[in-house]
Amino acid sequence: MALEVLRDVFGHAGFRTGQREAIEAVLAGRDAQVLLPTGAGKSLCYQVPAIVLARRGAGTTIVVSPLIALMNDQVGALEARGVAAAAIHSGLEDEARVATIARFARGELAMLYVSPERGVLDSFKRLLARTRIAMIAIDEAHCVSQWGHDFRPEYLRLAELRDVTDAPVIALTATATPRVMDEIAGSLALRAPVVVRGDFRRPNLAFDVTQIAPGGGEAVRMATTIEALDNAGLRQRHGSGRAIIYCSTRKTAEDVAARLEAAGFAAAHYHAGRTTLARERAQAGFALGRTRVLVATNAFGMGIDYPDIRVIVHYQAPGSLEAYYQEAGRAGRDREPARCLLLFGAGDLVTQRRLSQRGSRSATIMARSEAALAAIARYADTWSCRQQMLCAHFTGSDAHVACANCDACRGPAPLPRVALAPASLLGSAAQQLILAALAAHGRPVGKLVLAKALRGSQAKPVVVQGLTRLAQHGALADSSEESIAATIEELVRERRLVRRGRKYPTIALPGAAKARASRTVVNSRRARDGDGSRTSGLTVELERYRKRMARQLKWKPFMIFQRKTILALDQQRPETLAALDKITGLGASRIARFGEDLLAIVRRYGGLAASPATVEPAVRDLFSQLRGP
Ligand code: ADP
Repeated sequence: MALEVLRDVFGHAGFRTGQREAIEAVLAGRDAQVLLPTGAGKSLCYQVPAIVLARRGAGTTIVVSPLIALMNDQVGALEARGVAAAAIHSGLEDEARVATIARFARGELAMLYVSPERGVLDSFKRLLARTRIAMIAIDEAHCVSQWGHDFRPEYLRLAELRDVTDAPVIALTATATPRVMDEIAGSLALRAPVVVRGDFRRPNLAFDVTQIAPGGGEAVRMATTIEALDNAGLRQRHGSGRAIIYCSTRKTAEDVAARLEAAGFAAAHYHAGRTTLARERAQAGFALGRTRVLVATNAFGMGIDYPDIRVIVHYQAPGSLEAYYQEAGRAGRDREPARCLLLFGAGDLVTQRRLSQRGSRSATIMARSEAALAAIARYADTWSCRQQMLCAHFTGSDAHVACANCDACRGPAPLPRVALAPASLLGSAAQQLILAALAAHGRPVGKLVLAKALRGSQAKPVVVQGLTRLAQHGALADSSEESIAATIEELVRERRLVRRGRKYPTIALPGAAKARASRTVVNSRRARDGDGSRTSGLTVELERYRKRMARQLKWKPFMIFQRKTILALDQQRPETLAALDKITGLGASRIARFGEDLLAIVRRYGGLAASPATVEPAVRDLFSQLRGP
């Protein structure tokens, strides 16, 4: 019957990922918790069963929705399809409200939309207790979480609806980390809910970050924004496609819009400080395509659904990855290529802190917003696939494959795109080549970075890890990255390679660990034998590395790491990624980015490659013994 409703009422041929599970759960009387990305089709997860249940005479479905505009849109669309739906909210005239309540009480409605404020009113709960309720759907359920960016205190009281009806509850959201999912289930008193998690990958979106250096950042932000708009062909007054530029403050939104207009773009601005009329005009201009670039604060938010947004620039970083993914996720709804660009400067976090300190906020909430800021800083700083990181953030699973579309995957000088052939395993010559490359490299390396190197990529991670120097660099240029990666996996399965590490898994030759262990013995002996003369060589090398990286990344050297970090590295000579974690001033994102290099440098200076002239005489003896005649 659900499929019939999908076809007859909504005109769709089949269910999308996740919809069927959610619908079957509630039709079987179970609670459900649905996490599907924006645009995946969450509404049908409750609208289809609501209609089925109404037809079975099971009563009305209550839909709690946080925005009046959204409710009105949905009710309008349902009515147009002949479904008995209505909404009650504060925007309604008394007469209309009374009429709707009467229809509801007579059991004439398949769906009744209410705001969370109304949902928890005693009078409304009394009404519910007297009426046949088929199901309760709670939309934008992440509003229950103080961790989230859309916290609504009334959501915390929605569990009270359970006191007046036994109907199943379905809670839906597009944005929830595993922790927020738990919070939703707890706060809404869900009973062993069926959890439906969708696919958060958006293969058509290219996620990019441009780091903005402190000072003089405005010009770079504006130039980068204009370049992104030009690349998407948005300078012309007419044509398809549009862009949203998100700013953190109203003032920035106004300034940026004015400067874009001055630069010749059809731009307008939107924020909550403008009059209702001005906002409606801005939105209408954008909807009709007269305005091709809308510069907005996060007030331009929930329910925004334009198919052809080609570019979303975050002119300043938002306060959390949840907010970022939700806003950026409005790009490319038509599944055509679109770009999501985050401009990130350290000052953005200061702005966010200032914004979040407005109003009285508890210490817990402050700690949570700090954690959220740390997550977005990590995202900006990441050096691996950005889409992978976003998906892992939302689903808690590391199992997503790299997108091949973000700046980290593309690298600074993208290779000409080859049509993606299905991954096939490579033959024994290529396998030998992979093994030889790892042997020559002499240390573990990420699977995809190695695959890129073998294809001849000059991407940042390939260059920084010294893989361009390998004789095998580019030796498999004719094979696809997928095939090389699949072959590496096969070698792991055959135990000819081993996988190391959980958070940043790498691939290595099975014996490599032993080689490293023997050097460790040498190092620790050296440490015991005295360390007076070894400092300078390593410090100089680390300084050199820092400068090289700063040049490559166009950062200031202190942004790579500080001098005190170099001294700590010299003093502590860490041997493992875990030991690096204890070095002052490093942290996870720097370890991910520079860790392997730092270990290699430390190893070189503490190990066999060190020049005997720089080491204590006692150690020199040990060296010559090891080297042999
Ligand atoms: P969400 O609430 O998850 O952002 P919506 O419920 O607004 O998404 O749905 C997004 C779009 O996808 C709508 O235009 C809807 O008609 C369409 N859609 C939803 N389910 C299906 C389906 N099974 N087949 C085809 N289109 C669908």
